[in-house]
Amino acid sequence: MEMIEQSDPISAHQTNAGKDRLRAFGIITLNSMFAQKDASGVLRMAIEDLLADELAVVSSFGADSAVLLHMVSKIDPNLPILFLQTGRHFPQTLAYVKTLSKRLGLANVRLLAPDSDELVRFDPDEDLWKSDPNACCHIRKIVPLDKALGGFGGWVSGRKRYQTEERGALSHFELTSDNRIKVNPLAYWEGADIAAYKKTHDLPEHPLFAEGFASIGCAPCTSAVTNGENPRSGRWRGLNKAECGIHFDVNRRISPAMNKAELTLFRDGEFVADPWGKWVEGTAPVLARYVHVPLVEFVVNRAAYLASLHPLGLLVGAGDDVMEVASDLGRFSSIAVEFPAFTDGRGYSSARLLAERLGYKGELRAVGDVLADQIPLMRRCGVNAFVVSHAATRKALEKGVPGRIDVFMQPAGGDEIPVGTRAFVRRAPNFTVSTP
Ligand code: SF4
Repeated sequence: MEMIEQSDPISAHQTNAGKDRLRAFGIITLNSMFAQKDASGVLRMAIEDLLADELAVVSSFGADSAVLLHMVSKIDPNLPILFLQTGRHFPQTLAYVKTLSKRLGLANVRLLAPDSDELVRFDPDEDLWKSDPNACCHIRKIVPLDKALGGFGGWVSGRKRYQTEERGALSHFELTSDNRIKVNPLAYWEGADIAAYKKTHDLPEHPLFAEGFASIGCAPCTSAVTNGENPRSGRWRGLNKAECGIHFDVNRRISPAMNKAELTLFRDGEFVADPWGKWVEGTAPVLARYVHVPLVEFVVNRAAYLASLHPLGLLVGAGDDVMEVASDLGRFSSIAVEFPAFTDGRGYSSARLLAERLGYKGELRAVGDVLADQIPLMRRCGVNAFVVSHAATRKALEKGVPGRIDVFMQPAGGDEIPVGTRAFVRRAPNFTVSTP
């Protein structure tokens, strides 16, 4: 087993290839490709296809770490494993790094140490964790990891949804604001899945696990939990802190938990969490990600938006001309068409232009005043997702109504034939009329 003390940046890898592949796959598509508990499938895709030699695993060598590391060892035991050696770990954890690595044949475990000058300057008495744990985590975890990740296009974490409320909406793949892909193969695993996997593969436990330490970090900030307590409640006990910060994005948020009422996007027959946020005026194009940029804004800053690799959506307002972006449609993972009022039909025209004339095949969502009676008409115009807040419409969709419209005056989609007009068409040999 090779173990490398690492405080300098890892030699730079070429990450452009991975980013290009990311553009092709699209995070949203990736997240629909795997069964929820197919952790090995997610990991294999990340290691062998998506990121190849641009991927690292970040492991705490804590209570559950053996599961993910065992899966990694079966796919590529040479994959870099980054361990944040904060200087405040339990001796049992440091011993476990060695025994587990040896047992699994992990050949490339890298120990990331904090900057010694910073420690002397900011934490000379090693008690910063008491007065300012966020600053302590910053020096001992966030900065060393940021430095090390400079050479990678993505990293794997062992986080799981059930652990905390903040992690409750984790997906298998995330795109971080620094253009990296974060892979969470165990996102949907429960505690029972972890325990069963350990047993099946006879994996060694962390020495403190038997003493009630269900989630293990630095010694000063970790305590045992009692039966029935959340496994992570022993971390930073008594402090208003649940995360060390390495999983925060620039907005200081991680995937938020959502209750049913917050699932506002109706797609593929069910309400789901909407991965897209609200575009904020003044946001620099390079920072726009998972938002629907207004068409006018996109046109003004077109070059900057096309150069960015983040998933991008487009918002088509009622008065917008979609032909202005006809050649850019491949850039958008989602297009939102605004329906400002029940009586305003311009959204239907935009949707038809996008779906029929311009051949847009991605998510085409209706936003605005989306009501049950409009939905069949929107569907005929190519809309395949609906952002719905109207309570009665939500109920109708949950019940499976409204359904399709079979009798209409105005054809859509190229193969519909209107009833009540063009009598000569209805006399065509293959024409049949379906009724509601
Ligand atoms: S977990 Fe505690 S000791 Fe470790 S870096 Fe964070 S605050 Fe410091």
